[in-house]
Amino acid sequence: MIKMAKNYYEILGVQKAASDEELKSAYRKLAKQYHPDINKAPEAASKFKEINEAYEVLGDKTKRQNYDRFGTAEPGGFSGFGGGGGGGSSIFEDLFSGGTDFFNIFTGGGQQRRGPGKGEDIYKNITLTFEEAAFGTTKELKFDRSESCNSCRGTGAKGGTAYTQCAQCNGTGAVRVTRETPLGRMVSTGACRACGGKGRIVKQTCPDCNGAGYIRRSVVKKIDIPEGIGNGQVMTIMREGERDPEGGENGNLVLAIKVMPHRFFERDGSDLFITVPITFSQAALGATVRVPVLKKDQAFIELRIEPGTQSHTLITREREGLKILKSERTGLFNRKDRGDLNINIVVETPRNLTPQQKELVKEFANSCNDLQYPKIRDYQNKTNL
Ligand SMILES: [Zn+2]
Ligand SMILES: [Zn+2]
Repeated sequence: MIKMAKNYYEILGVQKAASDEELKSAYRKLAKQYHPDINKAPEAASKFKEINEAYEVLGDKTKRQNYDRFGTAEPGGFSGFGGGGGGGSSIFEDLFSGGTDFFNIFTGGGQQRRGPGKGEDIYKNITLTFEEAAFGTTKELKFDRSESCNSCRGTGAKGGTAYTQCAQCNGTGAVRVTRETPLGRMVSTGACRACGGKGRIVKQTCPDCNGAGYIRRSVVKKIDIPEGIGNGQVMTIMREGERDPEGGENGNLVLAIKVMPHRFFERDGSDLFITVPITFSQAALGATVRVPVLKKDQAFIELRIEPGTQSHTLITREREGLKILKSERTGLFNRKDRGDLNINIVVETPRNLTPQQKELVKEFANSCNDLQYPKIRDYQNKTNL
């Protein structure tokens, strides 16, 4: 399994001798430029992932050393990868300054490209009620995942000690192969055959995992769903996916969010929409009506209906909508923390009038003059009817 490694320096547009500071600033600049919430170009999402992949390697001292040693232009088996690290949970925290979120949210997205020495991603769906998405919630998610065997500490050898280091590769699991070709000498790195790339020869197999070094387990994870998440969004929880058989870091847990419809609210991003019916007399005289909101500390707002309000009047109440996710607030233009509430006012005409009511309405109608009905007057003038 030889794969062509990408040139991570080229991706970040820095020299091979770049300092940590230079790397970091190049990464921040590119990540902001290609963040899928900001950059809507079709290739932005894959470019964004590529940038993150590059920085995940070059931003880590141990990984960068490994990467430099194995070279970039040559095909390389990255079996010696990972190990060390284990530090900071997310590079995104850095980007979205001040964030406590340990995950990152993409809109749409999908193709998660694997970096070298990384376990498989696990994909799961989470279905939320409209309110759960609006207020945020905690969900317990049960799924199967391979985890390192405790009794042998992932070595596959009994007690974690019943093995010797492979003499062929000195325990690295990788060997350099030099070939003479018509184009000259080619040097490549491949998995060591003597130990199958594991770097060790097992003397006695671990009875708990039958030498595999891992056990398939059912795990339950508490997932914190942030306030304001939307249908179709994807939450990536770093390093909660499958283990990497070659000792690299875990893959990610990727959650596709589905939000169920509401009884009377509709939603477009963080904006809420609701239709509020009022009576004919409320529309004519003016009134105050209660309109529900989806807020933690508030159940409704008092909405003033002006006298003479027409049916299908749209009233927008700013910042009475849903919370806007932090990851979507980093854009240069969108600094709002909440969406709007859009209220569609509909006048309901009364039905089944009693004879007495009919008389009252007739009396009222006769008292009106055409200045009170400018639309009707305009219609009559235009159509001559
Ligand atoms: Zn074991
Ligand atoms: Zn070996």
